[in-house]
This record gives sequence, structure tokens and C-alpha cells, in this order.
Amino acid sequence: MTAVLVPLGTRPEIIKLAPVVRELTATGFAVRLLATGQHGDAAMSAAFFDELNMHPDETWVLPADPHARVAAILEGAEHELATNRPDLVLVLGDTNTVPLFCLAARRNRVPVAHLEAGLRSFNATSMEEVNRKVAAACASLHLAPTDLAAQFLAEEGIDPAHVRVVGNPVIDVLRQLGVRRVGLGERSGAVLTAHRATNVDDPTRLAALVELVHRIADEAGTVTFPVHPRTRRRLEEGRLLGALAGDGVLLSEPVGYRAMSELVAASRVVVTDSGGLQEEASFFGVPVVVLRRSTPRWEGVRAGTSRLVGMDVALAMAAVRDLISPAAQQLADSTRCPYGDGHTAERVAELLGERATWDLLRLDEPDFVGREPPA
Ligand code: UDP
Repeated sequence: MTAVLVPLGTRPEIIKLAPVVRELTATGFAVRLLATGQHGDAAMSAAFFDELNMHPDETWVLPADPHARVAAILEGAEHELATNRPDLVLVLGDTNTVPLFCLAARRNRVPVAHLEAGLRSFNATSMEEVNRKVAAACASLHLAPTDLAAQFLAEEGIDPAHVRVVGNPVIDVLRQLGVRRVGLGERSGAVLTAHRATNVDDPTRLAALVELVHRIADEAGTVTFPVHPRTRRRLEEGRLLGALAGDGVLLSEPVGYRAMSELVAASRVVVTDSGGLQEEASFFGVPVVVLRRSTPRWEGVRAGTSRLVGMDVALAMAAVRDLISPAAQQLADSTRCPYGDGHTAERVAELLGERATWDLLRLDEPDFVGREPPA
């Protein structure tokens, strides 16, 4: 039986890997699910494992200090790889778990397949971008969600023979959940999330966020805001939680995945600095105001259904007004979701079932003795 190690640490990885793990298991792979504990908060991890019916074989509890956490994941990864020696490590996305397992895998000569490969924000200050590039340097199979992601990899010199466009498994999850798409006339209000350190750790931007929430409530109707634990901490520290509450603002703890999907589907606009929400809103035909100045999800920006605004209240409000207009609502509703078709997990399982894929994955030392170096 082919042994596949799937390490995962955060909410988006749990959500997106769920259908892939299910499909690999159903098609006869021995999948070992390792929860690294990067999101230790139960509302951000255990609740999602339960809801998505994922059962980690092992769960780590990491120390509180950020540097110690990174060290603990790397040490644990080295130990895991050296002890259990899987045939393949399958990682998804750009969290710290990804590059740390990639390094440990390569050191132990275990090949890596990277899902959601090729996303690029072109933001030199983004650690997630660094994580994606480390994954690209270590993986021998790059599972890109879109043609554009595959193009970015090719432009960085990744051999296209090692790249496959398979879609993003988040669309599989949404299809399997079966959350109803809501008709344009029945949608109301906005869903808002914000948790990026660049936004919520900066007191000026955090204050701008609070103002923005109220302005959106005035313009677009009720704003539902499930508050990420990090954002809640910063709001409490800045004594802004009281100012955030008010008419037309529904604050809550993070909600479960089905509940979140239903909220998104029923809203007129999503305002967020999250990556995954850009994909999910697109699936439900809901436009997105992105509270960042760059994004690795350019497909929505190109289609005109998502708009980059940073944490700039005036720009964000102009985008909200524009995107809730009938023409923009119609455009978002009728634009095909560019991020996947719901069959990503099947494609991954099929690929990993092919001998040719294992030839691609194999790590061999090249032999240039007496030959010309590669161009
Ligand atoms: N999400 C959720 N409940 C919430 C907020 C977000 O289920 O209260 C989901 C959301 O639908 C998306 C994922 O969590 O699938 C996004 O996670 P996050 O924003 O932490 O990470 P990112 O996608 O930016 O990497």
C-alpha cells in the first residue's frame, strides 16, 4: 500500500484537504493524517476536523512562543519522516507547516507533492509567499489550481512536466456540502472577516477596520463578522470591541464551515483579507472586496468580481458601492468560478495512482560526469 503523509496545521488546510484525504483513502492509499497544532484554538481546528469528518492519526500541541512553534514543527517533522518513512508527503497551501515538512521530507529523501501550487501575490513582505516558494523548490509534483498558477510556476523555471492543473479542492468541499446557491433577489447584507497580521496588528488599520464595518452596514445592510481569535485579541487590547458593536453589525465567534458557506451564499458582498473566502464567494457568485493590496488569487480580480482595496476605507467603500450595484451583482452571479470544478480530489487520486507520476516524483541524483551542465 502506498503510504501518504498529510501534515496539516490550520483551518483552511483542514477544509481543503478533507475531500483529498477522503478520496485517497477510498482509492486504497494508506493516508496518515498529522495535525501539527499550528491552529491550536479548538474553534479553529478541532471543530473543523469534526465537521469535515477528519480523524488525525496524531495531534501535536505546540509551545506558545512563535519561534519555538516553528522549531517544534520542524523537529517533529524530521522525527516523523525519519521514523515512518512515507512514500510521499502531500501538503497544501502556504502555512508554516508546509515549508517545514517540505524541508524535512527532502532531507529524508521523501518526495513532496504540493497542492494549491503556483499561487503568487508578488508581495515580498509576505511570509506566505516565501512558504509557497519553498514548497515549489522542494516539491517534485506541483498541483496547481488554475492555468494562471501553472503559468507562474513555469515563469519561475519549474519544469512544466512536473506541473498538473487540478483545480482547488475547496470547490469539491463546497459541492459536497450542497449549500444552496441563493438567488440574486434574496441576498442581503455583507459578510466580513479580517485576521491578517498586517491589518489587525496595526492600530491605525484596526481602527480603519472598525470604521469600515459601520460604513458598510449603512451602505449595504447588516454586516456579519465572525471574529478571528487574533482579531478579537487585538480589538480587546485596543479597547475597540465596544466601538465595533452597534446597529447592523452582527459579531460572533468563528462559525463552522457550513454556517460560513451559508452566510457567504446569502450575502451581497464579502469583504475580507482571507484567501479561501475569495474562492468560496466566487463559487456562490458573490463579489469580493479584498482588504489587501495584493492577492495570490488574480482570477477574480481579472474577472472583475473581486477588487483589491487594502485597508483603505474610502477605496473599500467605493468598491462596496460598486459591487452591490445590479450590474456588478449580475456579473458576479454569471461568472464561472475560475478556481475549480469540484473534481480536484478525484484528479489527485488518479494521478497518484499512475506509475508515470511516481517516475516524476522520484528523487535521483543527476549524473553530469563528462557531460555538459544543463542550460
Ligand atoms: N471560515 C469559517 N468560519 C469562520 C471564518 C472563516 O469556516 O468563522 C473559513 C472560510 O470559509 C475559509 C477559511 O475559513 O474557508 C479561511 O480561513 P482563513 O481566513 O483563516 O485562511 P486563508 O484562507 O486566508 O488562508
